[in-house]
Amino acid sequence: MSKAKQEDLVGRSMAAVEAQAAPHPMRLTEIWKWVSGYIWPWNSLYTAIAILTWLYCTPEMARMKHLAPDWIGFIFLRNLVLIGLYVSAWHIPLYVRRTQGTNHKYSARWLTTDSSIFMFRDQFLDNLFWTVCSAVLIWTGYEVATFWCQANGLIPTINWWAHPIYCAAILLMIPALRSIHFYAIHRLIHWPPLYRSVHYLHHKNVNPGPWSGLAMHPVEHLLYFSGVLLHWVIPSHPLHALAHLQHLALSPCTGHSGFDRVLLSRRVSVDTYGYTHYLHHRYFEVNYGGDAVPIDRWMGTFHDGSAKAQEALKKRLLERRNDRQRA
Ligand SMILES: [Zn+2]
Ligand SMILES: [Zn+2]
Repeated sequence: MSKAKQEDLVGRSMAAVEAQAAPHPMRLTEIWKWVSGYIWPWNSLYTAIAILTWLYCTPEMARMKHLAPDWIGFIFLRNLVLIGLYVSAWHIPLYVRRTQGTNHKYSARWLTTDSSIFMFRDQFLDNLFWTVCSAVLIWTGYEVATFWCQANGLIPTINWWAHPIYCAAILLMIPALRSIHFYAIHRLIHWPPLYRSVHYLHHKNVNPGPWSGLAMHPVEHLLYFSGVLLHWVIPSHPLHALAHLQHLALSPCTGHSGFDRVLLSRRVSVDTYGYTHYLHHRYFEVNYGGDAVPIDRWMGTFHDGSAKAQEALKKRLLERRNDRQRA
């Protein structure tokens, strides 16, 4: 096994990879594992944060009928504080205090410093810049536009208590819908001209950390957060749009943490479900989607870190090169 491969599999058993992957339709235990992994813990956490934000930290819809700097500024600051607190809760213990060292870390390397690849010659500062100066602005822009349209009845908006089952089902489906949208735009920005001008910025993070999740080019942010436009088409409650945007904003931190498991105590740890996306940063042409739906398996782009998957990737790249030469 090569050194790189050994690094990849630090703390990662293949059983855990399989548990994260798509279930066989006929095996109930695998379906249960997939369902429980879909709901718990991360999607439940994001949904809880969204509900609390809607109840206690979102202006009244009547106030959002008119665009005004006070409520727009409030939403921008609320989003800035939320992303700052959430990502710091990962970054500080794992990368500043290094409480679990490299235990369950995919790569033995830490974040890059003193390199001309990154703005300010520092991976953390580069990632922080793109998150604060682009991601939060564009995220807030989509949120403000959606709430304003809903407040003015310009897009199909429904009352939660008039349609509770439909509303709960849409809320539950957000991670899956988001995963499909992410796969589509991610394939698009791997198209060489867009990759070279836009997506290269995110992929500078070959060894990502929690702040790398939203370290993207503004054009990528525009595409990435556009998933919320679904709620401009299907009847939705403002909480759906809020939960969708917060899922887009918070979940990349988990997937880019660089750790397979986070130790909460000596005996208790939690899976980050970040391995497949870590492999995307390592091998580029695999695992374009999230973990909520097995779309990479369906499209033949899944990589589980095994030698077999690596061979399949090599074969796919060779076939593509041959196709290009023939064209
Ligand atoms: Zn990434
Ligand atoms: Zn990519």
